[in-house]
Amino acid sequence: MGNLEEIKTILGPLRVYENEPLSRHTYFKIGGPARLFFEAKTVDDLKLAVETAYRYQIPFVVLGGGANVLVSDRGFEGLVIKNKATGIKLIGLKGTIGKTGKGIKNALVWTASGTPMNQLARFTIDQTLEGLEFLLSVPGTIGGGLKINAHFNVEKHEFIGNRLMSAALFDLKTGTTKSVNHDYFDFSYDHSKIQETDEIVLEAIFKLDKAKDQGDLWQKAMDGIKRRNEEQPVGSACSGCIFRNISRKDAMRLVTPNLTTSTGYIIESLGLKGTKIGGAAISSTHTNFIINTAGATAGDVLKLINLIKTKAKEKYNLDLKEEIFYVGDFDEISN
Ligand SMILES: Cc1cc2nc3c(=O)[nH]c(=O)nc-3n(C[C@H](O)[C@H](O)[C@H](O)COP(=O)(O)OP(=O)(O)OC[C@H]3O[C@@H](n4cnc5c(N)ncnc54)[C@H](O)[C@@H]3O)c2cc1C
Repeated sequence: MGNLEEIKTILGPLRVYENEPLSRHTYFKIGGPARLFFEAKTVDDLKLAVETAYRYQIPFVVLGGGANVLVSDRGFEGLVIKNKATGIKLIGLKGTIGKTGKGIKNALVWTASGTPMNQLARFTIDQTLEGLEFLLSVPGTIGGGLKINAHFNVEKHEFIGNRLMSAALFDLKTGTTKSVNHDYFDFSYDHSKIQETDEIVLEAIFKLDKAKDQGDLWQKAMDGIKRRNEEQPVGSACSGCIFRNISRKDAMRLVTPNLTTSTGYIIESLGLKGTKIGGAAISSTHTNFIINTAGATAGDVLKLINLIKTKAKEKYNLDLKEEIFYVGDFDEISN
């Protein structure tokens, strides 16, 4: 990679690390070295880093919490920007404000894109604002959350995108920053437009309604944590659900129990629960999770992913699609 010294000078020579192991920055605890690694502590840092990568035409990737990625064992031959740009503030209130604030109808909340989603949930609950309390138990940052349209209870339409009002994005086609509104993202289950454009979220503004009772919001958030503790392999190194759920159409075609769209059900019915390759295993608690039991490589995880995809295709004619994103080079991702 050319221009290495120039990039280091721009971002601060002491702030750019070479060959930083990415296993330190992913929930999976998997991933080889980043050729260059920079931690953005503010939105300006993040902007400077992506602008620099754009200007020097070097491959780059932004990592948020690293909760939804599988990083190659060979690492990433470019600049990895770890987004630690955090910050939340109330920037607008609508309704009768008065001394008690009781007449407030809704509020606008600004966040830097590296803010953990659970911090935003905590802040909004503290302000008695409803709509994002389900994020209390979802790992990762606002930027990563907007890319996948992070959710908890899909049947109840709990998606982060529902409450997004606008965002500032770095546009990789023009090398400039632009402001976009909610509709731009074209949100749906596990989808937002930035999956196609690879634009980078710098900051975001959410519009939330005033709730009647703060206690109810805490209750809802804590119920989510309880459910997660019951259904997921809590404490294991993993990347959450590996695959997106299947479509309603496929659930109807396969006549799944109660027409469930759960990919966990599909994997279990393939008899793969607990299957282990190297240090990676399909969780026995939640079959759509692969866990790093000890020293798993990205190769081990990928072999399990390919095994699940092959069996799902053979038995059910299903084309399972990953929810996780791949970072770095992989030889054999099956389609
Ligand atoms: C134990 C566990 C439980 C989970 N439970 C849930 C759940 O209930 N619901 C749910 O929706 N998800 C869940 N997940 C997955 C994960 O929490 C979400 O996908 C989350 O949105 C990932 O955010 P992140 O910041 O960690 O993204 P990362 O993993 O860092 O990145 C994911 C993708 O987003 C890109 N990206 C990151 N930041 C930005 C940015 N600022 N701008 C543009 N692109 C960016 C990355 O380049 C990458 O392509 C779970 C994960 C784990 C480990």
